[in-house]
Amino acid sequence: MYRPVNHGYIEVVIGPMYSGKSEELIRRIKRAEIAKQNIVVFKPRIDDRYSKEDVVSHSGDSVGAIPINKANEIYNYIDEKTQVVGIDEVQFFDEEIINIAINLADKGIRVIAAGLDMDFKGEPFGPTPKLLAVAEFVDKIQAICSVCGQPATRSQRLINGEPARYDDPIIQVGAVESYEARCRKCHVVYR
Ligand code: ADP
Ligand code: ZN
Repeated sequence: MYRPVNHGYIEVVIGPMYSGKSEELIRRIKRAEIAKQNIVVFKPRIDDRYSKEDVVSHSGDSVGAIPINKANEIYNYIDEKTQVVGIDEVQFFDEEIINIAINLADKGIRVIAAGLDMDFKGEPFGPTPKLLAVAEFVDKIQAICSVCGQPATRSQRLINGEPARYDDPIIQVGAVESYEARCRKCHVVYR
C-alpha cells in the first residue's frame, strides 16, 4: 500500500463490530513502529473494553493508546516530531475530531482513524461520515454474519438476546445487552 511521502493525509478504516477495525489499526501502527516513526494513538475514555491504556482487538492484539475525553485534548500530545496519529473508536468523539484530523494532515501528519460507520440502527454514526468525506483513503471492511455466515456490514444490538427496538434507551438497567455482526438481510431493528 503506497502512501504519499511529501505531505500528510487521512486514512479511515470502517465497518461493523468484529470486522477487524482495531486489528487493522494495530497492524498499521506496528508497521509504522518498525519504520521508527514517531507515533501517538488515542481512544475515547468511555471505551475501556479490555484495557484503559491500550487499543485491544477482539483477537487480543494491542498497542499503547492515550485515553481522552474530548477530541481537542489530542493537541496536548502532538509536537513537531509527531509523524503518525492513530485514533480508535472515532465514532465516539465530538465533531471537532474532523477539523483536528484535517489540521494534523495539513501539518504533514499521517492520521489513521478506525471506527463504526453505522450505529445499531444502521444509521451513520457520529462524526464518521464526514471524516470519510475528507479522507484520502477509506477501507470499508466486513465481519462475518453471526446468523448466515455472509459478509456482515451491520452491528446487531441484542437486549436479553432479542433484537433491540429503534428507540430503546442506550443504557437499560438490569438488561443484558450484547452485540453481534450481521449482514443487511439478517440485521433486525424493531420499530
Ligand atoms: P473491531 O475493532 O472491528 O470490533 P476487532 O479488530 O476488535 O474488530 O476484532 C476482529 C476479530 O474478532 C476477528 O479477527 C475475529 O478473530 C474476531 N471475531 C469474532 N466474531 C467475529 C465475527 N462475527 N466476524 C468476524 N470476526 C469475528
Ligand atoms: Zn446474514
